[in-house]
Amino acid sequence: MEQEQIVDTDSNFAVSPATPTEPAQAFFDRQEIPTRSQVVVLGGGLAGLISAIVLARQGRQVLLCEKKKFPRDKVCGACLNSNAIATLERLKLTPLLDQLGAPMLKQVRIQCGRRTLSLPLPGGRAITRKELDLALASEATRCGVRILENVNAALDSLSSDQKLRRVKIQDSQQTSFTDAEIVLVAAGLGGVREISQPWPAEIKPNSKIGIGLTLHTESHNIRENTIYLCVRENGYLGIVLAENHQVNLAAAIKPDLLNQEESFGGWVRETLCRYNLQIDYPFEEAQWRGTAPLTRKIAQPFGRRWLAIGDSAGYVEPFTGEGMAWAISGGELAASLAAKNIEHWSEKHERQWGSLYKQMIRQRQLSCRSLAWLLQNPLRSRLAIEVAAWFPSIGHWFVHDINRLAHTLPPPKNSALT
Ligand SMILES: Cc1cc2nc3c(=O)[nH]c(=O)nc-3n(C[C@H](O)[C@H](O)[C@H](O)COP(=O)(O)OP(=O)(O)OC[C@H]3O[C@@H](n4cnc5c(N)ncnc54)[C@H](O)[C@@H]3O)c2cc1C
Repeated sequence: MEQEQIVDTDSNFAVSPATPTEPAQAFFDRQEIPTRSQVVVLGGGLAGLISAIVLARQGRQVLLCEKKKFPRDKVCGACLNSNAIATLERLKLTPLLDQLGAPMLKQVRIQCGRRTLSLPLPGGRAITRKELDLALASEATRCGVRILENVNAALDSLSSDQKLRRVKIQDSQQTSFTDAEIVLVAAGLGGVREISQPWPAEIKPNSKIGIGLTLHTESHNIRENTIYLCVRENGYLGIVLAENHQVNLAAAIKPDLLNQEESFGGWVRETLCRYNLQIDYPFEEAQWRGTAPLTRKIAQPFGRRWLAIGDSAGYVEPFTGEGMAWAISGGELAASLAAKNIEHWSEKHERQWGSLYKQMIRQRQLSCRSLAWLLQNPLRSRLAIEVAAWFPSIGHWFVHDINRLAHTLPPPKNSALT
């Protein structure tokens, strides 16, 4: 595999063959870094942006630090499931999806070997992360969030009275510091280091990596409103038509696939051909974007005056449409906890976040873990598809479970949010 074809998402390159919706003028002005904020959010992905919006709407001062400049691409399957949509609806953010023209999702087609399993979806929409995150960042600034782009932020020291957590902010020219009563770590898979400590995530051996591309081509046979999930022995490829007929491709693959002779683009072409899908595009020449190993867990998603949310708090595997749903509901929950308790914040609230996270999010990962386990091995996937083809209610139950709405979950045991 020609390694230069894969662009690390953590680097500052921004390459995508899709036509970007560039803002007419510089989106966010460089601002003076405040010496102190009530909440500093590290990372402007879904978890960070949603939490910042929720906090700002409740009158809290929020500074959000993002490593890249909006609009930026992200490796993602671009599928928001019905649970994610329900949370966005509650936060009155779905009009953004309407404005962006995000198509509805009606079915998922899982293709493995000779079998194809089509399952109806209870809802969901397709939207590229470039557009979704840009729209949310715009909404966040409208609500009063101060966004610093192109900065690398990290947790730093705790004040001696333990009332403030210092954040280190680096850009190409300088290093600055700011203090926060609470820091939300929403920096995606890698998290951000607490001074001289490694991010406490345990990466699972044999973890897959993510690779993705969004492209414009009219010449394809990909149907609207459908998620295609093509399972192969060394990974799987998801395809969906997102806003403005853009074709979004995202794969979770074993990393050693990249060491093989064949280029990743060639693997994609062969996968499409195997499942009678056609997309006219020079995949071999495309600049794919890649991620770090995906599957990881973190012992506890909090520390003194910080809470981890979204992928920074742990990750199973993509294509269950759950990653963004967790990022959104986790962002909302953590922000509500912080907004309500900031004046009398203590370790008790951090532990509450740990148990809330466990109750409302980790439990829901069970179905996703099982799906990830099935998809790890083509034989298992084939067997599962055979079983689901014979007993369709199993497949329907699975989709329902993964998409079940937050309000059908048991309420959190503590009262920090009520
Ligand atoms: C191949 C693939 C396909 C997927 N498909 C789907 C799907 O179809 N549906 C779904 O729901 N989920 C999907 N996911 C999962 C989903 O993309 C993630 O779960 C989701 O993006 C998590 O959001 P987040 O806000 O936690 O992190 P991210 O979206 O990763 O955002 C983190 C942000 O933090 C910034 N950052 C990182 N370090 C720093 C730093 N030091 N300082 C400042 N900023 C920093 C990054 O630039 C980034 O903007 C997929 C993932 C992969 C890899």
